[in-house]
Amino acid sequence: MTPQLLFYILIGIIIANFIFDQFLDALNAKHFNDSLPEELSDVYDDKEYERSQAYKKTRYRFGILTSTFSLILTLAFFFLEGFAYVDDIARSISDNSIVIALIFFGIILLASDILTTPFSYYSTFVIEEKFGFNKTTKATFFLDKLKGWLMGALLGGGILALIIWFYQLTGNDFWIYAWIIVTIFSIFMNMFYSKLIVPLFNKQTPLEDGSLRQKIEAYARNVGFQIDKIFIIDGSKRSTKANAYFSGFGKEKRITLYDTLVNDLEEEEIVAVLAHEVGHYKRKHIIYNLSLSILTTGLTFWILSLFVSNPIFSQALSVEETSFHIGLIVFGILYTPISEITGLLMNLLSRKFEYQADDFAKETYAAAPLISSLKKLSSNSLNNLTPHPSYVFFHYSHPSLGQRIFNLKK
Ligand SMILES: [Zn+2]
Repeated sequence: MTPQLLFYILIGIIIANFIFDQFLDALNAKHFNDSLPEELSDVYDDKEYERSQAYKKTRYRFGILTSTFSLILTLAFFFLEGFAYVDDIARSISDNSIVIALIFFGIILLASDILTTPFSYYSTFVIEEKFGFNKTTKATFFLDKLKGWLMGALLGGGILALIIWFYQLTGNDFWIYAWIIVTIFSIFMNMFYSKLIVPLFNKQTPLEDGSLRQKIEAYARNVGFQIDKIFIIDGSKRSTKANAYFSGFGKEKRITLYDTLVNDLEEEEIVAVLAHEVGHYKRKHIIYNLSLSILTTGLTFWILSLFVSNPIFSQALSVEETSFHIGLIVFGILYTPISEITGLLMNLLSRKFEYQADDFAKETYAAAPLISSLKKLSSNSLNNLTPHPSYVFFHYSHPSLGQRIFNLKK
C-alpha cells in the first residue's frame, strides 16, 4: 500500500461515517410526525406535544449544522497537512517524544474544543434556553470548560505519557502494560468518580431523613440491598432535565438522584426509579459492563500495537518522522468501523440490561409508578416518542419509551 492510498482510505472512512450518521438522522427525522401509539397518547397534552415537535426539529437542524462544520474542519485539516504542521511546532519546542506527543495532542484538542465552543454555547444559551431547559449561567459554562481542560490535561496527559513511556521501554509489547494501567485507572474511577470528580462540578448532599428516605430504606430492606449512600445532586444548577444513576461497587456503591428528579416525581415513582437502579446492581450489570470495557480496551491496544510503528502511518499524513502520536491518530480513524460495531454491540447489551432492570423493579416493587415516572421524565425532556427502529438499534442505550412500557405492562 502507498501512503497516498492510505490517506484516501482515511478520508473515505471519515466521509462514509458522516454519510451513515446523516442518513440515520434523516430517517429518524422523517418519522417525527408519526401518530403516537395508544399507550403513549397521555405523555403530552396538545401544547406540550407541539413544543416537543419544535424541539426535535430544532435539535435535528442544529445537529446537521455542527456535524457538517466538524466534517469540513476535519477534511481541511487533512488536506492542508495540519498534522505535519502541528508536529513541527511540537518538535520545535522539545526533543523528548513524550513531551512532543503531549504538546501535539494538547494543541489539536484545545484548538478543536475552542472552535466548537460557539456551537455548544449556542446549544445551551439559545436552544435549551428557548425551550426552558437551561439553568446554566455563563460563569458556570466557562468554568466547566476550564475545569474540563485541566482535568483532561492531567488525567489524559498522564495516561498518554505513561503509555508512550511503556512503548519506549518495551516496544510492541507496550500494549500489555497500557492495558493494565488503563484497567486499574477505570476500576479506580468507577469506585471513586462520585467522590473525587463529581464534587468539582456539583454539590452532593445525603438524602435527608423523612418519608422518602424511609420508603427507600423499607424497599432496600425488602430486597436485601445494603444501601446507606443515597445522594441528591444539584443537577438544577445546569438544566431542568432529570436523571438518576448508580455508581461504584462494594463499600463504595451509591445511588445519586438529581434534585430535579426529586422535585418532578412522586415518592412512589422515585422508589420505582431506584428499584430499577438496584436491579442493575443485583443483576451484576455494573460488573459485566466494566469487564466488557476492559476486554475491548485490551483488544484495541493489541491491534494498535500491530500497526503503530509502521512508517506508512506517518507518511500518509505527510509527517516525516515516524511517531507514536501520529500512529495513534491514523489508527483512531482506521479503527472507527470496528468501534462502531463494538459500540453497537454494547448498546444492544445495554438495552437488554435496561429491560432486566425494569423487570426487577416490576417484580420487587411495582410497574405502575415506574411507567408513570418514565412518562413524566420523557415529557419533561420533550423526548421523541416515535424514533425510527434503525435509529434505536444503532444509537439508543435504552429501549424507547414505547418498548419499555410495553415490556412493563406484559
Ligand atoms: Zn437503567
